[in-house]
Formats: sequence, structure tokens, C-alpha cells
Amino acid sequence: MDTPDRVEIVEVGPRDGLQNEAATVPTAGKIALIAALTAAGIRRFEATSFVSPRWIPQLADAEAVFASLPTVAGTVYGGLIPNERGYERALAAGAREVSLVVSATEGHCRANLNRSIAEALAIFAPIAARGRADGLRVRANISTVFGCPFDGVPPLARVFDVIERIVATGIDNVTLSDTLGVANPRQVGLVFAQASAAFPGTTFAAHFHDTRGLALANVIAALDAGVRTFDASIGGLGGCPYAPGAAGNVATEDLAFMLQEMGIETGIDLDRLLRAAELVEAQVGHPLRARISRALLAPLAATPA
Ligand code: ZN
Repeated sequence: MDTPDRVEIVEVGPRDGLQNEAATVPTAGKIALIAALTAAGIRRFEATSFVSPRWIPQLADAEAVFASLPTVAGTVYGGLIPNERGYERALAAGAREVSLVVSATEGHCRANLNRSIAEALAIFAPIAARGRADGLRVRANISTVFGCPFDGVPPLARVFDVIERIVATGIDNVTLSDTLGVANPRQVGLVFAQASAAFPGTTFAAHFHDTRGLALANVIAALDAGVRTFDASIGGLGGCPYAPGAAGNVATEDLAFMLQEMGIETGIDLDRLLRAAELVEAQVGHPLRARISRALLAPLAATPA
């Protein structure tokens, strides 16, 4: 396996994670968490979502969160946006990156966004143009690439059609998401290798949920296919309200630990990251799933070789 020297981890826990928690974490808690993750070396965040508070009341404080984020050189705090109103809010709040979403399947797109794929894609071109004018990076997230609770596994031609329509708007950062956590490493390797070959000017990132415990294996498959940017969620927070049974993202600390063990630089200080994981566990009020926290906080007795 040809491993890279460096991989970028995008922390999505404050958005993808906290929006799926029953209890709303207070604004001060979110800010403390993002600050702790920044101190641990994370340099790119999906920090919140600029959606209507009626849709996601847990993230109704997007502006207040952005107003108090730390200023660390080279750190990009971004937010998810559903429409132009969201773009304007993100821009006014000082976001450096915005994420647009669409699904690879009609069933999930309608359930998640209340729009068809074509309707969801219609806002990509104007947002991409505004992003270029305002100096804001725009990334596109495609949900349910590897499986959908309503429509099953989408044909690759369908996924490529969505990518093609995104690329046509000038967006060159595209995240392929396993929203349900049903992907397997062979499928992941094939999809990313073929997507990279078909769209050579596009940088693909991967977003894996860990519903069936295959997220880290899928990371390896994506790494092998050339992917260098991975979404992750501190403590493995998350799920999807329109993907029943889906677990959270691959845990940031598990991913950072694995990459560190493989000699791949992430810029992350693992000790500090584990402290951030303890902070989020206290805030959500229930134990989280990451493996490495338990292993390192209660180490097994060393076994002689
Ligand atoms: Zn997700």
C-alpha cells in the first residue's frame, strides 16, 4: 500500500454529531469543544449548520458559535448551508468554507432536504459563483453514495451524473458520503478510484459512518484509492434522522490514532484530542463509541513479545 505522508481530518462532530443528539449542547459548550479540538491541532471544521432553527433546533446558535471561535492561523471554520439565505448567514458570521448537500438518491434527498436532486443541485451554481466572488471555499457533500434507506445502492452512473453536475458549477471539492454506514472497503475503493479517474480536476474527500464497524476499513480503502481528506466526528458522535439506525461518523480519535500508528501525519496531538473527547462526552451526557479512548485511558497490561 502506497501511504501518503499527510492526511487532513475535517472535524464534523459539531455539525453532523450534535444535530443528532437529543439534548442541545449549550452554546458555550460547543465553543469550548471547538476550542479544545483546535488546540488539539484540528485545522478544518464543519462547525455548525446555517439552516432554519425550525429544522435543526440543536444548531440554532450558529451565529453565536461563530462569534466566539478561536483565531488560529490556518484554521478553517465552515458551516453547512441549505440555500442562499444560509450562504448569506455563513458569510456574515465569518465562515471560511461552506458545505452544500445533495443526495445520490431521490428518496434520501426528499426526506433530508424536501427537494428532488435536481432542485437541490439548482442552488449549487449561484452559490459557487458567490463563493468565488467572496473568497469563500465551497465544498459539495453527496449523501447516500454507498447506500440509501429508501432506494438501496445507487448505480455508479447515477452518482457520476450528480458529480458531473456539481463539477460543472466550478466546485472542485466533493465529499462522497456513506450516510448510513453500509459501505464496504471493496466498494469504497472502486467508487473513489473510478471517480478520481473520471473527474481528474476534482479533489474527493470521504465521509464514513461506522454503523457496522467498517468505517476504518473503508478509510484504508479510500486512502489506497488516493483520498487524502476525511471527515470524522469526535467521540463518533452522530447519526442521521433520515437514515434510521445509522451510527455516528468514524471517531476522530480512532482515525487520528490509526493514521499516527501508520506514520501518516495529521497535525493532531492525540492526548489533547482525547481530552476533547472527554469534554464532549460530559456535554452530551452519555458514553461515546470511540475505541481508542477506552484503550488508552485504561491501558491493557503490556504483553512481553
Ligand atoms: Zn454524516
